[in-house]
Amino acid sequence: MKAFNPAAFRSQFPALADAGVYLDSAATALKPQPVIEASQQFYSLSAGNVHRSQFPTAQRLTARYEAARDAVAALLNAPSGKDIVWTRGTTEAINIVAQCYARPRLQPGDEIIVSEAEHHANFVPWLMVAEQTGAKIVRLPIGKDYLPDLSQLPSLLNERSKILALGQMSNVTGGCPDLAKAVGLAHSAGAVVMVDGAQGVVHSPPDVQALGIDFYAFSAHKLYGPTGIGALYGKTDLLAEMSPWLGGGKMITHVSFDGFKTQAVPYRFEAGTPNVAGVIGLSAALEWLSGINIAEAETYSRGLATLAEAELAKRPGFRSFRCQDSSLLAFDFAGVHHSDLVTLLAESGIALRAGQHCAQPLLAALGVSGTLRASFAPYNTQSDVDALVKAIDHALAILVD
Ligand code: PMP
Repeated sequence: MKAFNPAAFRSQFPALADAGVYLDSAATALKPQPVIEASQQFYSLSAGNVHRSQFPTAQRLTARYEAARDAVAALLNAPSGKDIVWTRGTTEAINIVAQCYARPRLQPGDEIIVSEAEHHANFVPWLMVAEQTGAKIVRLPIGKDYLPDLSQLPSLLNERSKILALGQMSNVTGGCPDLAKAVGLAHSAGAVVMVDGAQGVVHSPPDVQALGIDFYAFSAHKLYGPTGIGALYGKTDLLAEMSPWLGGGKMITHVSFDGFKTQAVPYRFEAGTPNVAGVIGLSAALEWLSGINIAEAETYSRGLATLAEAELAKRPGFRSFRCQDSSLLAFDFAGVHHSDLVTLLAESGIALRAGQHCAQPLLAALGVSGTLRASFAPYNTQSDVDALVKAIDHALAILVD
């Protein structure tokens, strides 16, 4: 593996020319040239649909489409590409687990443990299924370090615990709980674990087998791939027991007026013409990423967040909600509204996000109505940090009397 080269990495992202100082990669990552080219090629050169036609171009496309499943399985060390279901993204993947796994199994009074750090995508589907089944939501609080407090997990688990919903990495604090510990504890009580990998997969793709993860979800667009495509990994036996929620073409083996029989996994969860362009783009992203030293790139972007945090900490009122040494830096300034600050930053050409980050329960636990969040990616530079600090000084001079 070659050493990580920031300049060479950065040169592959044409959107940087127009994105200003882009510090919003946790919302969505920019796309490198090979992903753009693969998407362009798909639309310029591909003829036919997948899984439906005998002619050569369609057959070739089907082979590429299925090979991408194997590439995702390799990324996560899943046993097989057949354990990977294509979805629109993390949100849809978690909803599939909630509706197709949990809903038919949950009884009134059963318990779903949800960490306080979850994004709404790993929260609302559980609130919905609790409402539908009479199951109860149990809070796993965050600790002083902003991480879900796993020391409290044993006392929350009991024979009614059926599901633990836990993020690999918070999209606000960047905190990464000890997944092996959480999964081990949940399994000892007979609960299955839904891991939201939307942020975590970018920084450290997990070994789902070594960790014993039951379900894992991620979105391609945070991993330098296209929007509208993502994946659900599920343990083979769990997916095999699940009925689909969408009906239509290609998810059946037989249909008559008397009923239907469903396909094997994963096809039974993929009714209708899939997002073929998205899958091709994701597979290009994975191929490109296989040539990147992710660990070194991660150290580099964490270093930028550390620099920014250290510099901003010199300003009065600065508060950081950054966990460990994450590449995300959620922060605010006491007495300054995040919306005012982000508006002025946008005027200065700094692209970052402010607000509740689709994590209202976490923000409530942090005791703030919103934060700013600078998310650093390996295409950012030290001059981006300098620009952020300068723009904040400019904004604070306007906002603070
Ligand atoms: N979980 C986390 C931690 C996220 O950051 C996001 C995206 N903001 C999601 C889930 C949802 O991902 P998507 O919108 O791609 O479905």
